[in-house]
Amino acid sequence: MGYTVREIADWIEEWADPSWAESYDNCGLLIGHEDQEVDTVVTALDVTEGVVDYALSVGAQMIISHHPVIFHPFKRIVDADRDGARLLKIIEGNLAVCAAHTSMDAAMGGTNDIAAERLGLLAVRPLRPIQEEEGVGMGRIGMLPTIMTMQEFAEYVKQAFEVEHVRLVCQDPSDLVHQVALCTGRGMSFFEEAVKQGADVYLTGDVTYHEAEAAVSGRTGIVDAGHFATELPIAEAMAGYLQQQDEELKVYAYTEAEDPFRTI
Ligand SMILES: [Zn+2]
Repeated sequence: MGYTVREIADWIEEWADPSWAESYDNCGLLIGHEDQEVDTVVTALDVTEGVVDYALSVGAQMIISHHPVIFHPFKRIVDADRDGARLLKIIEGNLAVCAAHTSMDAAMGGTNDIAAERLGLLAVRPLRPIQEEEGVGMGRIGMLPTIMTMQEFAEYVKQAFEVEHVRLVCQDPSDLVHQVALCTGRGMSFFEEAVKQGADVYLTGDVTYHEAEAAVSGRTGIVDAGHFATELPIAEAMAGYLQQQDEELKVYAYTEAEDPFRTI
């Protein structure tokens, strides 16, 4: 048994079609020999040095990540800088790396659907659909099974995403929430769409001061649960998906990842 790097990348792209990605993105096979044999794969949110070391320690030939390991163009790849050292370690370790980023945000069962599921949302649909693909698109909007206050919703999000704190932007914490829109990661670019569609609250990460200040007097509240926490579950989901393709493939989700932000 054994698959090629290209075959594993194709499985991921059957789930998260690269044509669904945002124009600025860099999805797909980013490093590797397409014909190299793969029997062990590691899935992760980011290709950190810890992930590369872990992949090498379990004898993996391939990493599937959500965030692309190469995003901005490089002018040099040298071990004197952090990114260069990591890329050299990947290449010298004969590891292939494939990213499913905004393609996976748009996909059914991807980052946004997982977040909607964690909240138990009903009648979920994309916030910005891709016309010809049912259920595919950026962000999600749906209904909570029970109406709750903004304050209760914020607590509910903490439990759902296993975080110690979230940040809440709203007029009054006792305002009621029924319809929820969301976009995992850095998602404020879809906030206006959530407002337009009448969402009571918007769940995302990476909200800036000015974005919060502009939204605080509006009728759509915001809960910022963090970029990391809203997207981390995709590592396990991708591992589960690959395992479904072939139960004999060795697949490990890197679950030791830590949010670079500590809550003090
Ligand atoms: Zn992200």
